[in-house]
Amino acid sequence: MSTLSEAQLRKIELLKLSGIQDIFKPEVQIVSKDKYLEELRTENEHCKRCKLAATRKSFVWGQGNTDARVVFIGEGPGEQEDEQGVPFVGKAGQLLTKMLEAIELSREEVYITNIVKCRPPQNRNPEEDEIQACLPFLLTQLSIIQPSIICALGKVAANVLLQNDNSLGSMRQKFYNFRDSKLMVTYHPSALLRNSQWKRPAWEDLKMLKRELQKNVR
Ligand code: SF4
Repeated sequence: MSTLSEAQLRKIELLKLSGIQDIFKPEVQIVSKDKYLEELRTENEHCKRCKLAATRKSFVWGQGNTDARVVFIGEGPGEQEDEQGVPFVGKAGQLLTKMLEAIELSREEVYITNIVKCRPPQNRNPEEDEIQACLPFLLTQLSIIQPSIICALGKVAANVLLQNDNSLGSMRQKFYNFRDSKLMVTYHPSALLRNSQWKRPAWEDLKMLKRELQKNVR
């Protein structure tokens, strides 16, 4: 069972000092990644830090391997995810599962989450105040999991993580440094469902991810 390292605990302490201590346990103890993430989930499942709390059915925390080498991040839960409390379970989620299988990864090997943990009404993009309220959860998840690679799915997630307003096309096909991980950008699976001409470039992105994983064995 994977436990949090001293370095991870120091990073989490720094996040606490940034004024978001209300999402943390008062005393951080050395526990397993699984246990710590699960405790954070249950402690925050009634979160009311932003207005999305008023319309959500479920707090959609994340799913997968808490020791994953790759974390996939979308923008927010959709209708099916809100119903089931699990990220990427609708049609877009099924396509994501197939995309993973194409590069010989299973959902059990990776971790999947979103920028905001509650569904924006009518699947609109999350607004800036909602993103800022929710981002500490994601940063904490990443500090605990410590993936080698973070894959931002879609323009919204990529713009938030890279703090820019660039087009999706201009952000693809390269790796960025993001904290202790490498960050890459590809299409959101729901965009691929709408526009099949993006499937080929998305496949190029997946192959780049696979090559990096093969180089970067841990
Ligand atoms: S979106 Fe995030 S910050 Fe807003 S209520 Fe849900 S969990 Fe809390």
